[in-house]
Amino acid sequence: VKKDGNYSYSIWLEPDFQKLPEALEQLHVSGRKLCIVSDSNVDTLYGTQLKDVLSGICGKVTSYVFPAGEEHKTLDTVRNLYEHLILEKFDRKDMLVAFGGGVVGDLTGFTAATYLRGIDFIQVPTTLLSQVDSSIGGKTGVDFDAYKNMVGAFHMPRLVYMNLNLLRSLPDRQFASGMGEIIKHGLIQDPAYYSWLTEHYQEVMDKQYEALLTMVEGSCRIKRHVVEEDPTEQGIRAWLNFGHTIGHAVEKLKNFTLSHGECVAIGCMAAAYLSEKRGKLTESELKDIRKVLKSYQLPVCTEGLDAEKILSATKHDKKMDAGKIKFVLLSRIGEAYVTKDVTDDEILDAVRYILEDG
Ligand code: NAD
Ligand code: ZN
Repeated sequence: VKKDGNYSYSIWLEPDFQKLPEALEQLHVSGRKLCIVSDSNVDTLYGTQLKDVLSGICGKVTSYVFPAGEEHKTLDTVRNLYEHLILEKFDRKDMLVAFGGGVVGDLTGFTAATYLRGIDFIQVPTTLLSQVDSSIGGKTGVDFDAYKNMVGAFHMPRLVYMNLNLLRSLPDRQFASGMGEIIKHGLIQDPAYYSWLTEHYQEVMDKQYEALLTMVEGSCRIKRHVVEEDPTEQGIRAWLNFGHTIGHAVEKLKNFTLSHGECVAIGCMAAAYLSEKRGKLTESELKDIRKVLKSYQLPVCTEGLDAEKILSATKHDKKMDAGKIKFVLLSRIGEAYVTKDVTDDEILDAVRYILEDG
């Protein structure tokens, strides 16, 4: 992946950690201290495995583990991690390893971006969502009180190394959450990838290695392409927000009882419905999207929410521009566009569609 054309990092997709030493060679880790940052779940499952691989090849390896859960993606945890790094005398040449899902990745990246005005970090993402989405692109940050990702920085990892077999221990809903973003990738960028997904749900849900590899690779390629074209989110990176405008509103109103990807799936349905109403998709394409989401165990509707409340929560989302909601719609399967002219009535119509299950 390029950053402003002058700095790049590689992304490795592997069945285990065997090639990690080789992947790290270019970073000259032998004289550097390394801190593995992870959450309690990942550490219990795989902490020793990773530490064993890294111990032989770099100066010193320490670990910092915090309790799993979004509620720990805070400045308090960052503070404790700074303390650990200071006690362990980490300096500018030392490095962090983000070992976990998006929570660990965002928090570790932010700590790396700010400790001593910025040190290197690598991503070893362990959830489907973090492998195909959050580990690529350099967005880091933490939540502040009730505000998600309120404090952050752009800081690129020096390497992303994924061990796809770690996905086998993911809880089903967590796996489905990643699928929400993956199907979104197909819808906004790549019709062939989207149709591959429609055909291979059985192999993917069975977590067959070849299918996982094809899929994760396909999604990483799309995310990488979008980020490279538009590192600072002036243009097509906004396409990644497809399904997120209404999705975020649902996420908030459901008090985060649904996973992020589940809300994105519901939001994708609403945005696809709007695209169909504008004559960009056919009715059968809309039905097909619904079927694909369902085949990956994702919800396509929700209940118990008020349409007006969803509309006003949508308007409070930060993706506003001069008082207008920035909506990402599909111009066809595999291509998106941003528009600010979606009316309240149209949004209400789409919201009623996801409240009534089409
Ligand atoms: P997460 O990091 O909380 O992980 C979900 C759960 O799975 C946790 O309990 C974790 O301990 C557990 N887990 C992780 N790997 C496992 C494994 N291999 N086996 C079993 N359990 C495992 O959640 P997430 O969905 O990975 O990430 C969500 C976060 O990512 C949010 O904070 C969101 O804001 C952020 N995010 C960031 C970006 C970005 O561009 N930086 C993009 C999307 C999302
Ligand atoms: Zn998302």
